[in-house]
Amino acid sequence: MENIIIGIDLGGTNLRIGAVNTKNILVQPLILKSECIANSSSPIYTLCKIIDEYLHNTNTTHIDAISIGVPSSVENDNATVICTTNIRNQSGEAIFSHVNIAKNIKNYFHVPVFINNDVNNLMLYDTIAHHLEAKKVLVGIYIGTGVGASVIINGEFLKGKNGAALDLGHIPYYGKKDPCNCGKKGCCECYASGWRLQQIRKEYYPDSPISELFTLHKTEEPLRDFVSACANIYAIMATIFNPDALIIGGGIPEMKDFPKEQFEREITASVGKDVLSYGFDMIYSTPFVGKGIIGAAEFARKMLYKS
Ligand SMILES: [Zn+2]
Repeated sequence: MENIIIGIDLGGTNLRIGAVNTKNILVQPLILKSECIANSSSPIYTLCKIIDEYLHNTNTTHIDAISIGVPSSVENDNATVICTTNIRNQSGEAIFSHVNIAKNIKNYFHVPVFINNDVNNLMLYDTIAHHLEAKKVLVGIYIGTGVGASVIINGEFLKGKNGAALDLGHIPYYGKKDPCNCGKKGCCECYASGWRLQQIRKEYYPDSPISELFTLHKTEEPLRDFVSACANIYAIMATIFNPDALIIGGGIPEMKDFPKEQFEREITASVGKDVLSYGFDMIYSTPFVGKGIIGAAEFARKMLYKS
């Protein structure tokens, strides 16, 4: 095999690694717990060891690049992680904060290394999977443990001056006061996230398994409120960007019996009327565990072959 790229999707819970060929086929994926990096005294070295072992165990001798998606904004150098708010070590510190992780990995493997926000990688995968490459404005919001967003305008990610744009999980919900992981109060993630859903379960439905919450209780107020809080963030983003399509993804909308009808109705009811007069598609991200890995590989190819 040739032109292999190692794609990694480093999430809050799992680390997924795999080799991706030029046809975007993922071979020999492996899932580990992210804890092994979070609890390491040298997270970057542990990450290198994981990659090294993967290459060894899969007999992969030649790779073109390594590409890693992280749950954090990434500086415009595609190398420096800004802050992994949702991956913390035992002392409660974010494992990567304003640190260039690409440099050390590149020194270890002597191949190009690219770091990207994990949601941007998911968005690349979804853009290809749904044939949206030619669209002008795409907005993706992925609600999992936290909330991540990605915006593609004319084929380019919106990154902001430094790369910190679209920190949507920490957009303030007006008048709300709940404490957030980031240290602020009343952030979006306090009301529309997997983290919030866990709280709802604990408070109202301690006897229902989390995976059954929508199936058993979707018509009841706590979950209806939760779905409204999720719809709210999509409506805000659609109103700002006037997109061709809204990509709806992440563990929450992918849950069994997620009430899509209520959710879509509330988005439509809340979007600004000018944007609504032109309309937009609502596209659900395809549930597939390898999409973060393939998206990471796609990002590396985009960077490697950029003229
Ligand atoms: Zn916050």
